[in-house]
Amino acid sequence: MVSAFSRRLLCIALVAVLACIVPPAHAQAGVAGQPLGVCLLADKGQREDELIRHPERFDCTTPQHRFGSGDFWAMTSVIDRRSTFATPLVIRFGSVWQDGLTIHLVYADDAIRSWRSDARGIAPLIQLGAIAQLPIPVRDPALVRVLFHVDNAANARGILLGPRIATLAEGDAANLGLAALYAFFAGMSLALIVYNLALWCAMRHRFQLHYCLLLAALLGYTITSSGALAWLAPALANNDRLRLNYLFMGLAGGAAALFTRSFFEDKDLPSWVGRCSNVIAMAVPLSAFGVAAFGAINLRIADLLYALTIVGLLAIVVPTLWGAWYQRSRFLWLFAVAWSAPILLAVLRVLNSLHLIGWNFWIDNSTVVSMGAEALISSLAVAYRIKFLRDERDAAITREVVARKLADIDPLTGLLNRRAFLHQAIGRVEHQQLLLVDIDHFKRVNETLGHDGGDEVLRLFAVALRHAAPDPVLIARMGGEEFALLTPATQRIEPEALLASLRRVRMPFDLTITSSIGTCTGTLASDLDWKALYRCADSALFEAKAAGRDRARALRLDAA
Ligand code: GH3
Ligand code: MG
Ligand code: MG
Repeated sequence: MVSAFSRRLLCIALVAVLACIVPPAHAQAGVAGQPLGVCLLADKGQREDELIRHPERFDCTTPQHRFGSGDFWAMTSVIDRRSTFATPLVIRFGSVWQDGLTIHLVYADDAIRSWRSDARGIAPLIQLGAIAQLPIPVRDPALVRVLFHVDNAANARGILLGPRIATLAEGDAANLGLAALYAFFAGMSLALIVYNLALWCAMRHRFQLHYCLLLAALLGYTITSSGALAWLAPALANNDRLRLNYLFMGLAGGAAALFTRSFFEDKDLPSWVGRCSNVIAMAVPLSAFGVAAFGAINLRIADLLYALTIVGLLAIVVPTLWGAWYQRSRFLWLFAVAWSAPILLAVLRVLNSLHLIGWNFWIDNSTVVSMGAEALISSLAVAYRIKFLRDERDAAITREVVARKLADIDPLTGLLNRRAFLHQAIGRVEHQQLLLVDIDHFKRVNETLGHDGGDEVLRLFAVALRHAAPDPVLIARMGGEEFALLTPATQRIEPEALLASLRRVRMPFDLTITSSIGTCTGTLASDLDWKALYRCADSALFEAKAAGRDRARALRLDAA
């Protein structure tokens, strides 16, 4: 069941890449107002007044993309609306690559008012959403038609896209809505860039940088494609704005290739996929640069080359996702979910590019909408990835803590070993009581019970010691059957009481085990102090053994 689900997600992710296939949207007409039909005619030196009298000469049925590039006349369907001071009208249409544009507004009294672009093209008319908007002068007769003359239309997307007649208020409302959309996307991108850069400073993972690069390129794309740039830099020609649009989209494509690659772990992907991703990550922005540099010579060919590198991007994403799927990558499902919005809208854009579905403002603006969703969900994917990094780090810390503990512990008894005991003991400046406890005649225990039996006696003896002298008394097995206990002199252990409780321990075969204790009290500020204190307690232990065992002896440090 899980695999069927993942397979479905994989399919979604594959289609997502189609989002990148579609070159940047040039043509963006507002949703405001009433749509107008467009009829076209190749420019053969006709005069506008002659064409206005003979609208039947225009072709209103052939799709625009079939006309190729060149100079064209474009005539709208009949309008019959008055622009008044109370409700001034505007004409809105999408921005496309062209050398120049003339707009003739034709009124019911046969008067014509014309607007001619300068070297900046339609840049002065550009509104938010990269929609051109021309105010219609207030005159008493109604506006009946609009005749456009397009100089050297590249016609990669169309010659005249989505003309609409709207009131100025409708145009303003469209601007406001688009301002909200682009402000949301730009603000979110900026916040995510700052946030992920800060995270990168802490974690230093490549995918975080690639994600920031992707967001930065999309932010640039938002500014150029929204038309905000036309407001920020009014001297910039509209074709130059489109060039920047291509460059940022190409950069975003390259960054997407890098992010896709680095988001997955190295073990999830064959090394050749990584190398190909790097090549594609270079090729996509380079081809976008080609459009910017050579678009004026032949935009259609430059645009085709760009689209081909995007197909390369698509091609490399297939083995990337397949590798991640095959290796059961933990991150595949979130990655696929993040890309599902760009996929769905990209499918619509692809269908639109193939002229299978009609042109629509929202489809045209889908890059910003879908990439906004992608960037937002990708931030969850990044957080999810970081969660695994945190888990790995926590596991490594736990392993290290366990390893350090194991290195401090005597494996047979579970008590501290000599090294850990000294580490914790030396440095104590207050007076300490040291007790050395040695099992009596342990050799005989080994002879009676065997070595394993002797081990069991040692284990039971250690448990009894720990029971009789709970924390914070330091207890260590110093070697063989000798143990050391260290406690602050203010919390002295009574050796006789300790001996009594050790004697009561039930041993295998009801063996009676006794031990001897030597104690001494002193400070443990240094290594030398330890040596003196140990020597003192050892002498006391020797006395206890010599006196017949199963007893305790104490010595003063100066007497040892
Ligand atoms: P004393 O009363 O004088 O302390 O006599 P003893 O036999 O206890 O002391 P001795 O130091 O002569 O012998 C200690 C024995 O402890 C020798 C050694 O075989 C045994 N031993 C040391 N380490 C281990 C161990 O880890 N397991 C077992 N089973 N025996 C050990
Ligand atoms: Mg002994
Ligand atoms: Mg001994």
